[in-house]
Amino acid sequence: MITTLTAAEIAAKLRSKEVSAPEVTKAFLDRISTEDAKYGAFLAVDSERAMAQAEDAQKRIEDGTAEPLTGVPVALKDNISTEGIETTCASKILKGYIPPYDATVTAKLKAAGAIIIGKANLDEFAMGSSNENSAYKLAHNPWDLKRTPGGSSGGSTVAVTAELAPLALGSDTGGSIRLPASFCGVVGFKPTYGRCSRYGLVAFASSLDQIGPLARTVEDAALLSNAITGHCNLDSTSLPHGPISLDGLKGGSLKGMRLAFPVEMYGDGTDPEVRKATEKALDDLRSEGAIIEEISIPTIPLGVTTYYIIAPAEASSNLGRFDGVRYGPRSQGQGHIDVVAKTRAEGFGHEVKARIMIGTYALSAGYYDAFYLRAQQVRAAMTQQFNEAFEKYDFVISPTAPVTAFELGALSQDPMQMKLLDYCTIPANMGGFPAISIQAGFAHGLPVGIQLMGPHMGDERVLQAAFAAERVLETQRKRPPIS
Ligand code: GLN
Repeated sequence: MITTLTAAEIAAKLRSKEVSAPEVTKAFLDRISTEDAKYGAFLAVDSERAMAQAEDAQKRIEDGTAEPLTGVPVALKDNISTEGIETTCASKILKGYIPPYDATVTAKLKAAGAIIIGKANLDEFAMGSSNENSAYKLAHNPWDLKRTPGGSSGGSTVAVTAELAPLALGSDTGGSIRLPASFCGVVGFKPTYGRCSRYGLVAFASSLDQIGPLARTVEDAALLSNAITGHCNLDSTSLPHGPISLDGLKGGSLKGMRLAFPVEMYGDGTDPEVRKATEKALDDLRSEGAIIEEISIPTIPLGVTTYYIIAPAEASSNLGRFDGVRYGPRSQGQGHIDVVAKTRAEGFGHEVKARIMIGTYALSAGYYDAFYLRAQQVRAAMTQQFNEAFEKYDFVISPTAPVTAFELGALSQDPMQMKLLDYCTIPANMGGFPAISIQAGFAHGLPVGIQLMGPHMGDERVLQAAFAAERVLETQRKRPPIS
């Protein structure tokens, strides 16, 4: 069946003309239409447009101008702008908003001949860890539909896990690609900050946001990373480097690889079963020659608190643009201030409002030094401590998440626990480091992810190491109970 294949396998079959691009796209569209009601992965699917792209892709395959992803479908998180296709960020405030332009990643995928198969569900404006903050619908974990797939890139992750798309893009501000990848047992990669253009990604916390791939194998994640990265003039934080290279991806070895395990990565909330699965994975890597040593990075436990100053501060500023004047629906009211206030009161969900208030407070005169400035100092210290680790070690390794996927609703009354889910992933955003989550094993019958973090611009090496580790952990492509 086409839909069970990886992106690399689909690309090979397209090249050898065993299947055509329209056949591939139709297979996924059909599967979405029959199966997605139970998963909630997609907010919008434009079949006609996707089929037209597939026809074009087929022409390129016929005339020899195809690129690696030509004819391969990709789902995009619905905070990534798509010209002509509604982009809501899973918020009511952007209901009906149709961007007049493509994000750089969208344009790059189109230029590569990839098929935009649909827009994936997420937590409103990417704020959340369970996809439960979507204003439209819940997303369900394919391993157990009662459970969350994680968030905020929940829909993108479900799409690849349930084989509704071979590839998807998510965004990661504090862990939103890696956490759901861990909960669903797939691969999620956050590139070095600045390697992937943020132009057209609806901004949440601009100094932390990064787009990256979700896929079922490291090879697929690397293929998609290659297609979406590279310098972009439209993003002032874009690095002056070319795309993430695929050279040497499969040539790495764990023999002699030096990995640091910060002891602080097992925080108070770590589930003992997750710890057991992690220890087993570390032993498996050791038996292939990896050298894993415990180190201390004392700022790690400060990550979540620091993040919840910096991210809301930036969000409160970024979300100021949603006033009902330029985008989305407008509420009725008396005069400009009243219209804006009502539009925002009715358009934003609870979590988004809470973040705007926290951020505004942290930035206000009198509190700025105590909160924002202090958070920036911790961020700098944390980055420095990780850089010191990268002087002695090739990578930092840790669990991706302290727990496995929990039941929908279980943490709704416990915002603190919800926020602690990003305990292990936030440091990579703070320092802008590349980080990947791959499946490491199982606990409670659910997937457990392991995270590899590399130094700034070490994206290729992180992918190469993950490719080698994926082979050793032997869990790759274990399929969830989907039909
Ligand atoms: N869970 C974190 C939050 O709610 C991270 C979200 C993200 O990475 N987009 O902010």
